[in-house]
Amino acid sequence: MTINNSRIVTYSPAYTIVPTYECFNRCSYCNFRAEPGKSPWMNISDAESIFKSLESEKVCEILILSGEVHPHSPKRQAWFQRIYDLCELALSRGFLPHTNAGPLSFAEMEMLKGVNVSMGLMLEQLTPTLLNTVHRHAPSKLPQVRLQQLQWAGELQIPFTTGLLLGIGETVNDWWETLAAISELHQRYHHIQEVILQPHSPGLQQSFNAPPFNPHQLPEVIAKAREILPDDITIQIPPNLIKDDQWLLACVEAGARDLGGISPKDEVNPDYPHLQEQVLRKILQPMGWELIERLPVYPKFDGWLSQELQTSVKWWRNTFKSPSQV
Ligand code: SF4
Repeated sequence: MTINNSRIVTYSPAYTIVPTYECFNRCSYCNFRAEPGKSPWMNISDAESIFKSLESEKVCEILILSGEVHPHSPKRQAWFQRIYDLCELALSRGFLPHTNAGPLSFAEMEMLKGVNVSMGLMLEQLTPTLLNTVHRHAPSKLPQVRLQQLQWAGELQIPFTTGLLLGIGETVNDWWETLAAISELHQRYHHIQEVILQPHSPGLQQSFNAPPFNPHQLPEVIAKAREILPDDITIQIPPNLIKDDQWLLACVEAGARDLGGISPKDEVNPDYPHLQEQVLRKILQPMGWELIERLPVYPKFDGWLSQELQTSVKWWRNTFKSPSQV
């Protein structure tokens, strides 16, 4: 069942853990990273305490969001192992992990598939011109590297979330080209769950000196994206970056149907607090939109998961029992 024509908007009750903020890239719009060696890695006992504190909360998804250790660094294996162990721990405590840790090797992706119900990586923009500007010091942002991740996810049958970052120096045509590339890969592998349209929203840490993406432009972009993307890909928008209730509603009317993971803190945009579920409901309900929880994996992908993962997913589907999970 596709929910695109219904009056349902989804979100994922989530909590974000950060194995490390250290990152060898230096994207100039970043408000997340720390210098390599300057961010202690999350250890397993810290994660255990967090998961324990979440037991009484309505949290299903653990988003594992990490800065990147260079693929050739001697620390790479330990970094990857820590991410794997955190996913495994989250699973063992009954949560559903979704990892976004930058580009991975094929073997790393394959291993993480065993302990994640879905994974993600923003494509951001495919245009190589950004390699001379915001991505000048960000080797991970090579467009071919990121496209290849989407392809590998397809080959490995990993349910996947990707998206565009809007307003970092690209042109309007660049948006449509990036969306077309996502669409093309999806038509080959049928593995993309959601495409996030994320407006650039300046934060206190970044050096990139540019205005925010005009949120009033977003409904138009969503409408066009809806034309380019296949119907079975959901368009996701981050409501904390839209700010204005009327424009949030306009985005939903234009075709956005998911508000992403709502957790206590937006780690990527720490200067923009998440709107919590009750607030979002108050905005949506008067206009006839129902806000419901979803899992970090869509039902049509359950068969791609291991038996162990399927057992956890089934438990959550019974708990949420929402129409979007049909
Ligand atoms: S945006 Fe991501 S890849 Fe770029 S510097 Fe920040 S954490 Fe690293």
